[in-house]
Amino acid sequence: MGKILGIIGGGQLGMMITEDAKKMPEQISKVIVLDPTPNCPAAQVGAEQIIADFKDKKAIEELAERSDIITYEIESGDSDVLKSVEVNAEIDPSPETLRIIQDKFLQKTFLSENNIPVADFIQIDSIEDLYAGLEKFGYPALLKARRDAYDGRGNYKIDNPDEIKKAFDYFKGQKLMLEKFIPFKMEVSVIAARNTKGEIKTYPLVENIHEKNILRQTIAPARVSEEISNHAEKIAQTTMSVLKGAGVFGIEMFLTNENKILINEIAPRVHNSGHHTLQSSETSQFEQHLRAILGLELGSVKLVKPTIMYNILGSAGFEGEYTPIEISQENLFLKMYGKKISKPQRKLGHLNLVAKENESIDDLIEKIEKIKEKLQTTPLQ
Ligand code: ATP
Ligand code: MG
Repeated sequence: MGKILGIIGGGQLGMMITEDAKKMPEQISKVIVLDPTPNCPAAQVGAEQIIADFKDKKAIEELAERSDIITYEIESGDSDVLKSVEVNAEIDPSPETLRIIQDKFLQKTFLSENNIPVADFIQIDSIEDLYAGLEKFGYPALLKARRDAYDGRGNYKIDNPDEIKKAFDYFKGQKLMLEKFIPFKMEVSVIAARNTKGEIKTYPLVENIHEKNILRQTIAPARVSEEISNHAEKIAQTTMSVLKGAGVFGIEMFLTNENKILINEIAPRVHNSGHHTLQSSETSQFEQHLRAILGLELGSVKLVKPTIMYNILGSAGFEGEYTPIEISQENLFLKMYGKKISKPQRKLGHLNLVAKENESIDDLIEKIEKIKEKLQTTPLQ
């Protein structure tokens, strides 16, 4: 008999986990997601849905009672509540790992205690701490909310002393940390997995291009030397060996101007920079996550074909129902998430452009440039 999988969050990540879960009916008989938006993306592909806030204790308890395993697609869940329902369902990754990762300060403290390289950082409890921190790190520096940040919304770059007060007030009441600004050469990431038996695998290093703080494009593999990619992979392996819990993790890193690798942050879940694996790799990150939490042997992480993933984001200056994106081209795989409303910068879908024989990454970049126009959202006619 297959297991019942509960997922906290039923957005695009929950959707793609559900789709891969449906391909393994012997292992997973049903998926139930907890999400506040009726008919969320995961529900549209066959998951049952509990409509409630991600932090609703009663709803999480209900999910645990109805599920054998609980996982999540967002890291903002209440780790104490999750811990309290562990008697009813196995939770992967573990609530303890979630507790550490979801607080950027605890996460960075944990990493540096394990000798994993990160940017210099300190805890900020008062404006005096902030003055002292800036004295130490110099300008610019990043003031960051410790929790519940996404798409760069929890970050404030302080360029000079005149901005200190404004930056501090911007976060009123939130727990904060200050981080040294890293003038990086490239942002890269590793999708890593650990199964419940302790087996660890890491996908090859990919390159991430952000625009306005949001991931726009992932280039797989990253355009770096073998030495650098091996080094980054080693850091990912070490990180996975100290983190407890099963599942897929997205490890975001900076490649500095001195060719050093620093971890920026870890997501305890499948990650946008791993969407290319749907077409580029032998095992998608979603299937890998399921294999990891079910205790199955992990699948191959081989990158079979160079691929670029391009995020389809809601166009600027427009909110509302949008005309469906239509584009068809050889080796282009479009995935829309079933969100009815477009909002500026909202992640509505992505496409994977896979290299043909003899095609280079530069060829793929050129192709993406040519189709960008067709990926704008416009009001529904
Ligand atoms: P996400 O965009 O992954 O949801 P987030 O909101 O949690 O992330 P971070 O990943 O901490 O925020 O930062 C967002 C982006 O800001 C990074 O991808 C990077 O481009 C930039 N950034 C963050 N920290 C630093 C730093 N110390 N130095 C330079 N740039 C940084
Ligand atoms: Mg990030």
